[in-house]
Parts: sequence; structure tokens; C-alpha cells
Amino acid sequence: MKKPFVTKAQIEEIVKKYPTPFHIYDEKGIRENAKALKEAFSWNKGYKEYFAVKATPNPYLINILREFGCGCDCSSLTELMLSEAMGVKGEDIMFSSNETPAEEYEYATKLGAIINLDDFTHIDFLEKTIGYIPETISCRYNPGGYFEIANNIMDNPGDAKYGFTTEQLFEGFKLLKEKGAKHFGIHAFLASNTVTNDYYPTLARQLFELAVKLKEETGVHIAFINLSGGIGVPYRPDQESNDIAVIGEGVRKAYEEVLTPAGMDDVAIYTELGRYMMAPFGHLVTQAIHEKHTYKEYIGVDACAVNLMRPAMYGAYHHITVLGKEDAVCDQMYDVVGSLCENNDKFAIDRMLPAIEKGDYLVIHDTGAHGFAMGYNYNGKLKSAELLLKEDGSVKLIRRAETPKDYFATFDCMDIFENFQF
Ligand SMILES: *Cc1c(COP(=O)(O)O)cnc(C)c1O
Repeated sequence: MKKPFVTKAQIEEIVKKYPTPFHIYDEKGIRENAKALKEAFSWNKGYKEYFAVKATPNPYLINILREFGCGCDCSSLTELMLSEAMGVKGEDIMFSSNETPAEEYEYATKLGAIINLDDFTHIDFLEKTIGYIPETISCRYNPGGYFEIANNIMDNPGDAKYGFTTEQLFEGFKLLKEKGAKHFGIHAFLASNTVTNDYYPTLARQLFELAVKLKEETGVHIAFINLSGGIGVPYRPDQESNDIAVIGEGVRKAYEEVLTPAGMDDVAIYTELGRYMMAPFGHLVTQAIHEKHTYKEYIGVDACAVNLMRPAMYGAYHHITVLGKEDAVCDQMYDVVGSLCENNDKFAIDRMLPAIEKGDYLVIHDTGAHGFAMGYNYNGKLKSAELLLKEDGSVKLIRRAETPKDYFATFDCMDIFENFQF
């Protein structure tokens, strides 16, 4: 069973100061998880997690991860700026972008970030943009085809826009070496939200074998292998969590069987986890404000898809707990819906839940990554606040809610709003 990290009583206190909807994050959970990740890979001297900033771009949350030695994985100008503002720079930034604008390569270079090239043509593009090829450089690999574990298709890299083909990777390393690169990284992200302890070990073994070949054929020094993101979380209550210790051991085994015998035991392992670091430690808290009985039973809540887009965008499942009714029987079938004029604005469809009354608070689980961050402003809806539930039980506002003034702020005719009381 999925249990919220907040109680009804806590939420009733919190809403006196911060009205729903809001995202709330669990500091204790984030810390314990980050510590366990660090321990799972402590066998590798150079290990580093670069948190995928796009998942949850909030400096208060990223600073918690930094206590555990995490860097930042960025893919845009503002993510680079956020990292810089937090004091993260140099090789603590991995710049894993694609279709990258020149100004972003310039900015990343100014910060001393490690650049992870998404395409063969970017070798030339980067050199023309910044005037040289950095000594440390990484390339994103895409083997094509399907990514399978024990005949189960996990994902379809052959259909993904990312990365170099195998041939391009060998050519690319040769070219980069000629142009002065000295330390190379290999990056691959071949399956998303995997709920199996085998994804990283399987991926790692493939990349380790590739690294040995690349070293033999091109003579380059492979400094790191970046397993990127993709470790998932159990969004559904019947799914079992990944065991990060088992995953770390699985990667170690592949390392010792492939890299160590090849004399490559100085290779650092990097990860760029987003979802795994944050998703379970965020809740979207919303209040039931309407019920509607037509061809179906609807519960209307004060959050909508702008606060959490994954159900509308991917049909993603997010578990829902009705606070105070954690142990009640789920004998009602509802669609839980937001207020957008879009029929896909549904947090749950045909979901069995306890009987909901207007005023009940609902926790939508696992919104700590790719939740608030994917927010948008359709229908003129405003983005919510983000709150941090601290280890001592207190609550800190870590991002205020948007106001109408924020929404109108990019017009160059703000004077038409001059008589409004914002
Ligand atoms: C999105 C992304 C990640 C993080 O993915 P998760 O599924 O959140 O682990 C890591 N690296 C890159 C390049 C990404 O685009």
C-alpha cells in the first residue's frame, strides 16, 4: 500500500497558511534516498550523481542533494544559470543537451561544465562555436533497435532522436582525439522509468564492452561512463521498488568482469537520475471542490493538468490517497478531474476510491519529479506553490504560487492592468 508522508491533520494546519493546490516535498525521504544511492556506488572511486535538474528545478531541493556530493545535469540555458546561481560549476555540471543552441554551448563552456555531445555534427558545431574542443568531452550513444532485458522490450532507442550511432561514435572519438580531446565519456539513456534492478547492470555491461572496444580501436582514454537516468519508481501500488544496493552491486559485477580485466579500473561511473531521486518524495495536494453525477461519477479538484501533466500527456498512473480515509474501503469509482477546458484533464479515470466528499483533501503521489516542472499556463491557470516538509516537521515555502500579475508580466502593455489590485 502507498502511504502519504503527510497526515490529514498536518495538511489542515498547512492550508491555513498555504492554500491548495500545492506540491509538498519530504526532506527526510530525499536525504535517506540520496544517502542510499551514494552508498550503493561507493565501490567506485569517481562515482558521481548529476541530478537531472529538469525533473525538479528548485534550488532548495537540489541543495539537499548536494550534501551527498551530487552535481547538476543540465540541458538548457536556465538550468545552467540555476546551477551557477547555486554555486555549482566546473565538472560538477554535466551538460547533456540536444539540438543545442550555440549560446548554450558558450555558457556551459564558461562554467567549465562537461559537455556531452548528442550528435556527430555537434563536434564541428561546438568547435566553431567555442573555438576549440575541450580536453574532457562526452558523447551520447544510441545503439538503435530495442533495449531488451531477458527478451522483455524495455524501450525503443531506435526510435529516439538522441545520440550517436555505433559507427558515428567510433568516428567521433577519433575525430575528437585529433582535435585535442584527452579524456572521454560515454553516455546512454536507453529506457525510461524502469522498475527492475536489471536496467543499470544490463546497460552498464553493454557500455563497458563498448568502452573496451573504443579504447582498443581509437586509443583514447575513457574517463567515465554515464548511465544517465531511467531508474524508475513504483507509481502503482502493486509495483515493487527498485533496490539501489542490488543495482549498485550489479553494476560493480559488470565492471569487475569487463573493465577491470581490460586494465580500465580508473573509469568513473556517473548517473543522471531525476525521477529516482525525487518522484516518491513529492505529493500534489488538492481539495475536492465539486462532485458531478452524469454518465460517470466525477470528483472535481482544485488542481488541474497544469500542476501535473503526466496523466494528461502520457496516460500516466498516479496513485491517489484521500486524507483521513486511508483505511476506508475503495468502493466508489470516480474520474478525478481538473478544471481545464480539455477532456484529458483527468488525474484518474475509473479509479476505485473511498467515497469522497467536498472539502476532502487528496494526495496525488509521486509528483516530486517531472511534476511541477512540466507545468504550463494553459487556460490562464497559475502554477502552484512548492513546500518543503522539513525533518523537524516544520514547513517551508520554497516557491510561492504564481499570481495573475506573474501571468500578465510578459505583456509590453502592463498599463492596461493599471487599475487591477493584484
Ligand atoms: C530526463 C533526463 C534524465 C533524467 O531522467 P529520469 O527518468 O528522471 O531519471 C537524465 N539525463 C538526461 C539527458 C535526461 O534528458
